[in-house]
Amino acid sequence: MIDLFLKNSYGISDKIIELAKIADQKSQSAYSKAEEICNYNSLKVLKSFSDHCVSEAHLGMTTGYGYDDVGRDTLDRIYADVFGGEDAIVRHNIVNGTMAIASCLYGVLRPGDTLVAATGKPYDTLEEVIGIRGESSGSLKDFGVKFRQVDMINSRVDFEGLRQALDSTVKAVIIQRSKGYDWRDTYSVNQIGEIISFVKEINSNIICIVDNCYGEFVEEKEPCSVGADLIVGSLIKNPGGGLAQSGGYIVGTKKAVELVSYRLTCPGIGRECGASLGNNRTMYQGFFMAPHVVCNAVKAGIFCSAMFEELGYQVNPASNCARADIITSVKFNSKEKLIEFCKGIQAGSPIDSYVTPAPWDMPGYENKVIMAAGAFVQGSSIEISADGPLRPPYIAYFQGGLTFETAKLAIMIAAENVLKIS
Ligand SMILES: *Cc1c(COP(=O)(O)O)cnc(C)c1O
Repeated sequence: MIDLFLKNSYGISDKIIELAKIADQKSQSAYSKAEEICNYNSLKVLKSFSDHCVSEAHLGMTTGYGYDDVGRDTLDRIYADVFGGEDAIVRHNIVNGTMAIASCLYGVLRPGDTLVAATGKPYDTLEEVIGIRGESSGSLKDFGVKFRQVDMINSRVDFEGLRQALDSTVKAVIIQRSKGYDWRDTYSVNQIGEIISFVKEINSNIICIVDNCYGEFVEEKEPCSVGADLIVGSLIKNPGGGLAQSGGYIVGTKKAVELVSYRLTCPGIGRECGASLGNNRTMYQGFFMAPHVVCNAVKAGIFCSAMFEELGYQVNPASNCARADIITSVKFNSKEKLIEFCKGIQAGSPIDSYVTPAPWDMPGYENKVIMAAGAFVQGSSIEISADGPLRPPYIAYFQGGLTFETAKLAIMIAAENVLKIS
């Protein structure tokens, strides 16, 4: 029945239907692993809700200064518990992941300090924050913060280079968990732990910040439990569960989170102000749903890898590899195929399925980017989405999928599109 529906309603060919079955068959054990992790993480979140006696009162709202917002303050505690930190700040008015990360950097670094990137080139949007691209005024560089980047060797941290970079001026090290727009492996939480231990052995005062975007709930633990001082992410990615309408979180040690809070609002105020304006309900429900939604996204990623492996493309990670984030990269070596892939994902999205995505100059990015984004929440990438900068080797970065079933269809449409021009 499904085959006929796919054929009649979406014009999926017999070949793609056949390949999808093969992809599914060979991914069974990878799917099961993802479901096991989801099972554990779901219970962990439920237990935390129960420990904190979450009730209807927490889902309400404050206005104005937002003093004593019990919902907001309790959600901070829940994030801290679940992600293994001492403290947390979770706010709807952190506008994106970049702002959350920037708040951490500005929060802990002072003039004369050095920031070191242990995992090579920082995420595109952080370049202007650090001051290594463009003329943006108010960058860390403007404030006298120095920056050093330790390039990776064969997609692994260059520990010798890192040792040399860690002189006495280094106050913080940033580690990016996810591959971002790079063709490398994502770091597992244990690998991040090795980097942190290495840094702390050289100087235990160095603050280790992990850009945790796309990694939340993909494994059974988060980087706080392997020594990270701060972990940061966006609520329109994994931990928002597809329901949070905007926001970001910061989890970490009490001391580091406090410093960040003074940057996020201002010194003396910190986290004591900030009205939730009715966002608590979706932030709570989203966090409750997040392990399950992330599992759907992980399974969609596995299916995507398996499907494009069958079609003969290089993918990362392979369908049978353990995952540490929700991103799947497909290397097309062709601008046209990258664009066709994104068009297919758009066509299989619940919102704006009739729209044709086109490359554009996105703020904060160096190259033109094509983006398939048919989401309930604008730009949300825990929802099904695909993007890629228009530069060789023309890699599509696929992520998200609120439901595995619908994500599979979108991937099949994308595969059909690519097959057609092969
Ligand atoms: C998404 C993301 C960010 C932040 O991007 P925003 O679009 O500002 O939310 C930073 N680092 C990584 C690795 C990301 O995936």
